[in-house]
Amino acid sequence: MHTLEIRDLFVALTDQPDKPIVKGLNLTIKAGEIHAIMGPNGTGKSTLSKAIAGHPGYAITGGDVLIDGKSILEMEPDERARAGIFLAFQYPSEIPGVSIANFLRAAVQARLAEGEELDATAYYKRLYGKMDMLKIDRKFTSRAVNDGFSGGEKKRCEILQMAMLEPTFALMDETDSGLDIDALRIVADGVNTMRGPKLGVLLITHYQRLLDYIVPDQVHVMYDGRIVKTGDKGLALELEAKGYDWVKKELAAV
Ligand code: ADP
Ligand code: MG
Repeated sequence: MHTLEIRDLFVALTDQPDKPIVKGLNLTIKAGEIHAIMGPNGTGKSTLSKAIAGHPGYAITGGDVLIDGKSILEMEPDERARAGIFLAFQYPSEIPGVSIANFLRAAVQARLAEGEELDATAYYKRLYGKMDMLKIDRKFTSRAVNDGFSGGEKKRCEILQMAMLEPTFALMDETDSGLDIDALRIVADGVNTMRGPKLGVLLITHYQRLLDYIVPDQVHVMYDGRIVKTGDKGLALELEAKGYDWVKKELAAV
């Protein structure tokens, strides 16, 4: 079984390496599990996911990230992707003039070993298979990437990308993205359709409601750069009812 282990991780901005944002975070995710991270704004949730994916703006200044016991820190972002990591972007870019079908094809091609060519017929067969699985209309993939997309359509594109890349570990940052109920459902249905023993998910969210649709195995509260509390789905409900001040008070009392 595949495992993603985040071990005593410290992350800072690349140009401010002495100011940690993530401050000694520990978390282990096994394929087959869904972990949710919740926490107040500015606590380092997005920084965590970007650092794991290998975003050049973020430097890992301490600790380690391992897949199946092997450190990924020396790997370039594309190598991390090939090792099974997928980062769903909080604010996907618009790529006018590039159709979703061609964008996904480039993404799938980029995952292949050097010199290996993607077979067009097999690619479209796979694409249409995934679209059927996710109940996405065929017309969708001829549109340009995120060009004039609604929140829900952006999410549909992201979920389809995830389905095509078949990651072992998906990092999904849904914070602040202003998900309406339609977009929330698209994310939840997509994740639930893909849920299974081969996929581990780290779901970052502000929305307790999302966790009504995607029931996580574990819920973690992140505060000031680390995980300060872990529980099951009930913890998310408790947070919604009591707010984060409750966690802060508990920490202060220790
Ligand atoms: P969260 O996702 O939990 O809201 P972030 O990881 O986005 O938190 O941000 C954590 C802290 O790091 C914040 O104080 C934020 O301003 C700072 N930060 C993150 N990324 C950048 C960046 N690219 N440039 C400047 N500050 C950043
Ligand atoms: Mg964020």
